[in-house]
Amino acid sequence: MSFDAKEIAKKNGIVGAGGAAFPAHIKLSSRADILIVNAAECEPLLYKDETILSHFFDEFLNGALLAKECVSAKKCIIGIKRKHEKLIEDLKSKIPKDFSIFQLEDTYPSGDEFLLVYDVTQKLIPKGGIPLDVGVIVHNVETLYNIGINKPVIEKFITVSGDVKEAVSLKVPIGMKWCDILSELNIKTDHKSFIIGGPMMGSVSNDLSIPVTKGDSGIVILPEDHPLIRKKSRTKQNIEKIAYTCDQCFRCSDLCPRDLLGHGVKPHRAMISVSMNLKQKTSYQASSLYCCECSLCTLYSCPEDLDPANVMILSKRALYKEGVRPEKKFCEINPMYHYRRTPTKLLINRLGLSEFVKPHKFLEKEFTPKEVILKLNQHRGEPAKPLVKKEQFVQKGEVVAETEEGKMGSRIFSSISGIVRAIDKQKIVVETK
Ligand code: SF4
Ligand code: SF4
Repeated sequence: MSFDAKEIAKKNGIVGAGGAAFPAHIKLSSRADILIVNAAECEPLLYKDETILSHFFDEFLNGALLAKECVSAKKCIIGIKRKHEKLIEDLKSKIPKDFSIFQLEDTYPSGDEFLLVYDVTQKLIPKGGIPLDVGVIVHNVETLYNIGINKPVIEKFITVSGDVKEAVSLKVPIGMKWCDILSELNIKTDHKSFIIGGPMMGSVSNDLSIPVTKGDSGIVILPEDHPLIRKKSRTKQNIEKIAYTCDQCFRCSDLCPRDLLGHGVKPHRAMISVSMNLKQKTSYQASSLYCCECSLCTLYSCPEDLDPANVMILSKRALYKEGVRPEKKFCEINPMYHYRRTPTKLLINRLGLSEFVKPHKFLEKEFTPKEVILKLNQHRGEPAKPLVKKEQFVQKGEVVAETEEGKMGSRIFSSISGIVRAIDKQKIVVETK
């Protein structure tokens, strides 16, 4: 059996479990001075990483040690929010000598790699660059847990929170439908709306027949008329229509975390580009290439309830379509960096989520879904290609799809034993006998 973290990650289909779903073996192919553990978990109402560190520390540590050795890092720093006082004390008593803890302020966003690396090391990743440009590799807590257990990725830690009696973090089979999970947890869904992921970067989905994927962090359940649901459900037409009323107050740019890093990200400029022709647009939208899509400008900064974040996202897509790509450039930190970060408490108030911040716990529960939908593109890169045929029996933990050798992607495993009932370009459906 191989104990090399890169091999473990490739063999088991491990991807960035914080949301990026970037194949972990690719990151582990490089050398770095420092391994940073991303335990920032900055999205409000999500608690899965905290849960892993509290309940599965040994597995996490095993993965962190393997990853550190694999990239030849001299040290490993766990970036975790200062507010987790008890957990931090506990971690301090368990980590090895070449590990340390960096206590982050409770701001949003703080798990963005560019911000995390700067906060933890004071090293500034160039805009358009990656952490390796400053000798750092970043892995999420759950990614390291998956390396530590060295098994096919068939389960996902998620948090179920929001308008529920009690928020819970738990492990569920990958491919299980969200509606089945909520039904097993006896959560009523009438007159509710759902955000898959966190309230800031997640997406509203009222179709709960979609499955859990390797990059999912949780589900936030809210009353269907909650303002956050309305704001996150805007159409492209609506986003552009309201952009005309932007009064260019600059607040979105002043508080933009990537602008504070010195990346020159200017959502206010993208806002006036909606009425321009294609040629004019490009220079006004150029900074969208460096936007991390954190949604802070829309859901916190803008006093007029406009949607600069989505204008930036649309601009970025349009520029990519035109063949424009980010350029790597070293920059200087904005002197206001430490003074303009957004406290999570203020953000939660602004989002109207204060009443949903409740005690949360780890729930140990065995799920036995009748059917799982295994998406073939649940990672960055090329979709995986099916290795099984319709009506074939597959075992739990058996590889059912794989990305071609040499291409970026990851393996997909069946999370239940059963018969392959359907295969198409997007998914494989497995049903128990
Ligand atoms: S979404 Fe808005 S605040 Fe966040 S990085 Fe992009 S422009 Fe800046
Ligand atoms: S904060 Fe809102 S109103 Fe002000 S410039 Fe940005 S989008 Fe326009």
